Amino acid sequence: MIAIENIRKEFPILNRTVNGKPLVYFDNAATSQTPQPVIDAIVDYYQNYNANIHRGVHTLSQEATDKYEEARIKIQKHFNAANSYEIIFTSGTTDSINLVANGFTSLLNEGNEIIVSALEHHSNIVPWQMLCERTGALLKVIPMTQEGVLDMEAYKSLLSDKTKLVFCNHVSNALGTINPIKDIITLAHGVNAAVLIDGAQAAPHIKADVQALDVDFYVASAHKMCGPTGQGMLYGKETWLKKLPPYQGGGEMIAEVTFEKTTYADLPHKFEAGTPNICGGIAFGAAIDYMNNIGFDVIAAYEHELLEYATEKLLAIEGLRIYGPKDTTQKAAVISFNIEGIHPYDMGVILDKLGIAVRTGHHCAQPIMNFFCIPGTVRASFAFYNTKEEIDILVAGVERAANMLR
Ligand SMILES: *Cc1c(COP(=O)(O)O)cnc(C)c1O
Repeated sequence: MIAIENIRKEFPILNRTVNGKPLVYFDNAATSQTPQPVIDAIVDYYQNYNANIHRGVHTLSQEATDKYEEARIKIQKHFNAANSYEIIFTSGTTDSINLVANGFTSLLNEGNEIIVSALEHHSNIVPWQMLCERTGALLKVIPMTQEGVLDMEAYKSLLSDKTKLVFCNHVSNALGTINPIKDIITLAHGVNAAVLIDGAQAAPHIKADVQALDVDFYVASAHKMCGPTGQGMLYGKETWLKKLPPYQGGGEMIAEVTFEKTTYADLPHKFEAGTPNICGGIAFGAAIDYMNNIGFDVIAAYEHELLEYATEKLLAIEGLRIYGPKDTTQKAAVISFNIEGIHPYDMGVILDKLGIAVRTGHHCAQPIMNFFCIPGTVRASFAFYNTKEEIDILVAGVERAANMLR
């Protein structure tokens, strides 16, 4: 059982009002809210030991370095990476993906193929298109069904010895679909292709085990899992991280620099040029601790309850269609919907007047919207600090807005 009352008290923002109404925050798939222990970790850093890391001999620098490296180990344990140096700190999922896409420039040739899924976020499409432009590789797309589920038979037929890379998200941010990533990875490895899984949307709901998955790269953002913005992670298998060239040049990533030749630092520093977001890394660690203290099993069970409750109540509204899998066990707590004849933007504006934060639009996944021939959807996404009472407020709000707009 989740101690929901106690949990809500730890999120100061949940006390605020919007347009005179208590805030109902259902835009968790875009960014999650921040609990007090994470806010405290941020304040503690700037108040007590703000210093640059890895360089100084002085006490503050050592304290900051220790905390930053402790955070790396927390992330390593959370995702069950074999080594802490396989965790690279980045500014977020987008940055992590670009790091890998950039690194593969020298490893791909014309005629090689890259496979992405039809369910991708733009940040997992555009960097690969740019990689294809640089290398002459071809981009192939795993199609999806009308229910927003990947067509695995089609995937199998796309794989060949030309396939060098496969990219797929663990959970779709636009539809909530949980993808069969274990199968995707196993099949890709059958043709010796590397796999990058975009875990940005899964990380707040599911604890991924990178060794059990045998995934080559797994990426996530702190701000979707109770941490700060501008901070993310890349897990990469040691063998791959050694093969990829550095992403950016600068301080921190070098072993020795002369004007004739520079040698690079060992992992993970090879990929961490310049002063990083030190506070962000430490706060990311605090966020992972916070979520693990509640427990991912508890979080998943409770969010599933919210998802089922909201799905049933919303579907009772006339003309309302939910996009994505009908089977809620194949979904994370994301509901993407439209009401016949009503533009999602208009719905979003009225809901905001009622204090309800939802996302409207294409959710950085225009190909998915094109597939369904819609301009966008209204997306309500839930976190473990949301309640059924809030869902009742959403349902009443949607009904009210529908009556005004129809
Ligand atoms: C949010 C999200 C991203 C992008 O994350 P950033 O933090 O903006 O870099 C990528 N993929 C998915 C599935 C997402 O939900």
